[in-house]
Amino acid sequence: MESLIKSLDSLYCDSLTQYSRRKTIPVRVGDVIIGGDNHIVVQSMTTVDTMDTLGSVEQCIRMIDSGCELIRITAPSLKEAENLKNIKSELRKRGYQTPLVADIHFTPNAAELAARIVEKVRINPGNYADKKKFEVIDYTDASYAEELERIRERFLPLVKICKENGTAMRIGTNHGSLSDRIMSRYGDTPLGMVESALEFLRICEDEKFHDIVISMKSSNTQVMVQAYRLLVQKLNEGGFKPYPLHLGVTEAGEAEDGRIKSAVGIGTLLEDGLGDTVRVSLTEDPEFEAPVAKALIDRYTGRTGHASIPEVVNYPITPFEHNKRQVAEIYNFGGHNVPRVITDISKVENITDREMKAVGHFYLPELDKWKMNDLGCDFVYSGSNPIPFMLPNGMKEIQNYSVWEKAPDQVNKFPLFGLSEYQKAEVFHSEINFLEVLDTEIAETISTIQGRKDTVLILKTANTHGMPALRRAFVSLIEAGSDIPVVVKVSYPDQTADMTMLYSATDVGGLLVDGLGDGILISLEKEGEHTRQEVLDQIKLHNSVSFGVLQAARTRMSKTEYISCPSCGRTLFDLQETTAMIRKRTDHLKGVKIGIMGCIVNGPGEMADADYGYVGSGKGKITLYKGKEVVKRSVPSEKAVDELIEIIREDGMWNEPETI
Ligand code: SF4
Repeated sequence: MESLIKSLDSLYCDSLTQYSRRKTIPVRVGDVIIGGDNHIVVQSMTTVDTMDTLGSVEQCIRMIDSGCELIRITAPSLKEAENLKNIKSELRKRGYQTPLVADIHFTPNAAELAARIVEKVRINPGNYADKKKFEVIDYTDASYAEELERIRERFLPLVKICKENGTAMRIGTNHGSLSDRIMSRYGDTPLGMVESALEFLRICEDEKFHDIVISMKSSNTQVMVQAYRLLVQKLNEGGFKPYPLHLGVTEAGEAEDGRIKSAVGIGTLLEDGLGDTVRVSLTEDPEFEAPVAKALIDRYTGRTGHASIPEVVNYPITPFEHNKRQVAEIYNFGGHNVPRVITDISKVENITDREMKAVGHFYLPELDKWKMNDLGCDFVYSGSNPIPFMLPNGMKEIQNYSVWEKAPDQVNKFPLFGLSEYQKAEVFHSEINFLEVLDTEIAETISTIQGRKDTVLILKTANTHGMPALRRAFVSLIEAGSDIPVVVKVSYPDQTADMTMLYSATDVGGLLVDGLGDGILISLEKEGEHTRQEVLDQIKLHNSVSFGVLQAARTRMSKTEYISCPSCGRTLFDLQETTAMIRKRTDHLKGVKIGIMGCIVNGPGEMADADYGYVGSGKGKITLYKGKEVVKRSVPSEKAVDELIEIIREDGMWNEPETI
């Protein structure tokens, strides 16, 4: 893999330091153009049964009103494909021109019909011409070529229909549903995902059909980011046209976790100028998706005018695979430790022990003991407001150097220095000191910290092109051979809760995906007109977002992970209600991944690497999985959550929830 990045010419984006959108060919989808010099298009997918014409139309209208510019509707068989005609004509009758996209899995005949009706068809190359059997077959070159010939025969009619009707196509690879053929040759790797799309793309190019958008979705953010980057590199290398990219993280989940996970994947790519259309998939009503996509996209309006960042000459980071930057272990940072969470409480004077619940540490006065939940932060930064009581063992305090140097306890508290303070200081903590610097101070910092084994950097930037500016500072550290651990500090004054989630997930998550960063610190900016409770709420949000970002970037698992599908016309139960019910019973199972999928057709494939699966297999019937293996079939839905817990228990992964 190393060889793929030796030359910056073969990189996946125009520049690692100067924001610029990748130049793509424009693809017309009805009145909307994806790619070229056009804005990044927001899209989403309906969840109502496609046979329910009016229900679908009304949901489409709610989606359009929320900012959706392109609407995807599932067409699992001919009858749904046929009904797209009614949905489209009712929408047009009501004055809505929003283009429609038919979502196809397994059914070429439905695709061929839909391509004559709607403006775009999405096919999944993993199942367009293949039924997944989870078989590992040894293909010879000849039998592999035969398979490709079989695909060509099945796929060509659709390509011709699209060409004749001016219908665009998305070749939408999903990490979880790669064909047995791809799996046997490449495994479920980013390269396998890319190759899966290229097999179909080659057929389109042979037919001179270029109205194509490509996606590489996964619920694993690292795999998703790597696959899109690799796709761009392979398109460039292979002399393909620069097709527009549709960005998305599959099965991202709901609420805060869903937003953070989407932003880690989508935001990371947008930072490097990749992406022409975005769909955020949440297990929520689809009208909640477009505003999140829009908030992610809008961040790049006017981004080109950012302060300049020194160019990268040699890029020591591997963008197509996850390699953690090697750093020294300082106290409990770096080495083999998980990334740490430092929560900023510095704007709260005389914080009380009971208020520490905002950072996941609970004081129990009747027992005079502390308890911690899964989101108990590792460090609090108290700035110049030292904590006036004894802290629990699991949490440490960082104070401004000016406070620490006069503090009665210089052993259990740690100092935070600015660069000039650090250069002048005579007293340091013997184990760990924190040095806060800007990316622009990195050269001076490197010479200052040389040889120090007692310091952790807190790295921040004032550049609006934040993630790449911080990444550039990491490049300098790597080039200088520095193994100092680095905590990334971000700050979003006056942003809403949603923006704070999305921005920190992009800025810190984007670095973590590339193996950069040993901790996170979200700066607390609220003061003045805010009540104490509002500031505490802000602290609580920052604390949980910090853990969420680490988890979404797959660097520290502190909670149960739910890989739940966004639902669509195929869904066999109420996904939101069921997800909430499963979450209520299992959200104390730290690090366990549970897939909750609306249908048995795509669900098992798209559960990716879930440890357990809850999949709708008929009206009121659920099939339960352990990994990819079916453990119980057709369980009545009233009993299915209990049965799921029983499977987890038998597997030795269950523990009883604690009450705090
Ligand atoms: S897994 Fe969910 S979103 Fe995917 S096709 Fe089935 S019901 Fe629809």
